[in-house]
Amino acid sequence: MSKSNLLLPVIQNWGCHNCGGCCREHLIEITAAEKQRIENQAWTAADGISMERPVIQQIGRNRYRLAHQSDGACVFLDEGGLCRIHTKHGEPAKPLACRTYPYAVHPAGPRKLAVSLRFSCPSVVQNLGSSVDSQKAAIGQLSREIVTGKQRDHDPPLIHNCPPHGVQQGDWPDFHRFLTALDDCVTDDSVHLVVRLMRILAWLELVEQSQFQTIRGAKLDDYLSLVTKASVKAQPDNDLPIHRPNRMARIMFRLIAAQYARHDTEALVRGGLSTRLSLLNAAMRFTTGFGRVPTLNESASVSRVFADPSDNDPNRTVRFSDLEIAYGGRRSDIDELLTRYFRVKIQGLHFCGPAQFQTSLLDGFRGLALMHPVVMWLARLRAARRASESIDLVDVQASLATADHNYGYSPALGTPSALRRVSLLTRMKQLTSLLSWYSQ
Ligand code: SF4
Repeated sequence: MSKSNLLLPVIQNWGCHNCGGCCREHLIEITAAEKQRIENQAWTAADGISMERPVIQQIGRNRYRLAHQSDGACVFLDEGGLCRIHTKHGEPAKPLACRTYPYAVHPAGPRKLAVSLRFSCPSVVQNLGSSVDSQKAAIGQLSREIVTGKQRDHDPPLIHNCPPHGVQQGDWPDFHRFLTALDDCVTDDSVHLVVRLMRILAWLELVEQSQFQTIRGAKLDDYLSLVTKASVKAQPDNDLPIHRPNRMARIMFRLIAAQYARHDTEALVRGGLSTRLSLLNAAMRFTTGFGRVPTLNESASVSRVFADPSDNDPNRTVRFSDLEIAYGGRRSDIDELLTRYFRVKIQGLHFCGPAQFQTSLLDGFRGLALMHPVVMWLARLRAARRASESIDLVDVQASLATADHNYGYSPALGTPSALRRVSLLTRMKQLTSLLSWYSQ
């Protein structure tokens, strides 16, 4: 695949630093061919593999996945945090899902693929390793294996699919014009990121209200630049009005944040009645927003890489009300991290269409914008747990890794009721309140 047909996020680095997190938190489904290949590798106890149970589990008719050790780690993860298949047989011998993570590849036009990254990997969050652009040959090879044949011939995601204008869809070149305009708006660092996001929400509303079906090509660029200028007038500077989100918005937001914070381990999935009751109890508390915030499980990557040494008081209680005060979140280091996050998701087509439950570009970006208050709320929770009055960069890094684990992947976030919550918050004009309130 030529470089021009592979769209890579230009501002992102990556290299695996062997935290072993992904090998503990992902259940890896494998194809029948991969099953056969692993069986042919003839693993024995001499390789350090426990022979108490099979290395491959059947999870349905012709469906298989790699088994896990009793501590939750993949059966092939060794004590040093390395993959035994990789060590013994080389990287190509691993299942495709393992070789792909943390990349995500999406069709982006005729013979074009867009590459994004999952920020659930701590190395992605911290921007460690070499530039993604310098790895284009390996990513191109991987992309060809991930998106094959007809999967590449995809229509672009809808721009907008709501009344009164009905479905609005352009061709791929026009769809990329929208992406470029969004990326430019996120990049303008003359104002805080939260101001840029407010402007984009105004931008989306202007697009939604207009009938642009007949505007194509270079004229679409002119139209989008007019919309951008108008959206700047909606929020001209850093002087943000602060409105506390209303009660209904806070309830919906807490339920969304709880979904993003969820980390369903294998033990939880297998859990019996008591597990289900405790989940129900936690859901009730998130709905009412009274009393103590339920304990949220951290992923293996987060607890390994972003552990908070000062969070050592198991009896410390954080109340929902503790998270409604300012925590000093509008800072350049936090803006820089989250700007990179938004740009990777835009450039990698990771916020709408097939990557995001088939949402349109407009609705998909609203869901992406909501990640800002979700991450900042989770960062407040982390700061409050160590009795700190301000969040730091590591709080935001850990919270981003937690939330992005579910972004676009948790089926619960793609249900009609979950998607309706985002559009209700938009219609109630509460997305902007959530952005300004939780970024303080
Ligand atoms: S989570 Fe990222 S850094 Fe950690 S082992 Fe997986 S790919 Fe490597």
